[in-house]
Amino acid sequence: MQQDIQVTIVGSSNVDITALMARLPGPGETVLADSYQLSPGGKGANQALAAQLAGAATEFIGAVGKDSHSEVALGQLDGAGVKLDRVARSSQPTGVAIIQVDSGAENSIAVVSGANSTMTDQAVKAAGAIDGILVLQGEIPASGIKAAMDAATDRIVLNLAPVIELDRDYLLKANPLVVNEHEAEAVLHQLNPHLGLRFNGRYERLAAMLIEEGITSVVITLGASGCLVADKFPAENGGAQVRPLPAAKVKAVDTTGAGDAFTGALAARLANGEDLVQAAEFAGKFAALTVQAHGAQASYPRSLENL
Ligand code: ATP
Repeated sequence: MQQDIQVTIVGSSNVDITALMARLPGPGETVLADSYQLSPGGKGANQALAAQLAGAATEFIGAVGKDSHSEVALGQLDGAGVKLDRVARSSQPTGVAIIQVDSGAENSIAVVSGANSTMTDQAVKAAGAIDGILVLQGEIPASGIKAAMDAATDRIVLNLAPVIELDRDYLLKANPLVVNEHEAEAVLHQLNPHLGLRFNGRYERLAAMLIEEGITSVVITLGASGCLVADKFPAENGGAQVRPLPAAKVKAVDTTGAGDAFTGALAARLANGEDLVQAAEFAGKFAALTVQAHGAQASYPRSLENL
């Protein structure tokens, strides 16, 4: 029997094509690379895998091409039991990120959105009802994000990465908005272009100002420094309460996809009835496990025993 879906992710899925080389080529130059690998990526797909592995019955709604890359893009999700019935097969190719990495771990990346760019309002409306908590990122067109929000019946987790233009009414539907410190500043600027502030490390103030602008709750992720969880004071007179949650001290070898692991795990725990602070504490532990292994989806924990 199929379990009721608790988390629905509407977003991107890609194949990362990573070539390892001694140094990156300059313009017009060819270098011989040592090796390459194909791995699944895309923020939507990463977050769907994390939500499922963190214990929520999860559906991913997105689009891939009719090419062999689609199998790589969806393989981990399929294996973990994420519901994929509403992933569209587009005439556009599966999205790819072409990544070059040199021996000093410096990289250059070109992303071809491909099928992800077909996730417009039309495609999202055609997919139908959204079940459970909705999770969104900034890697599909804004019209698709807005259509998904219009169809949501539960809370909306908005990881606006990358930051794209969204109308104020839609930004204010986030509960929580999950962003890193740079994205948080860009979203505040979208909400209030006249502020012109630079925060230089005063991220508690930044979180509070996002709440004061009207967002119901905010999580700012700060890498190895953990995260800040902010919401409105319960009291009538308003204002924001901001709580820092430190990260576990671990030896990080690769932080790729840590933010996505955090967002997916957070949504899973919210879907299981935890409050935002409890869910963020769990998400921080889940993400800290992922930075201790290489890769994005490959680093996500298959068992929750160590959490
Ligand atoms: P990315 O785009 O690389 O996925 P991000 O900027 O969206 O990253 P981060 O703030 O780097 O996200 O990381 C998300 C969360 O992962 C952090 O809030 C923290 O809980 C955890 N995390 C990241 N790096 C580390 C680390 N070095 N040690 C422990 N936890 C970490």
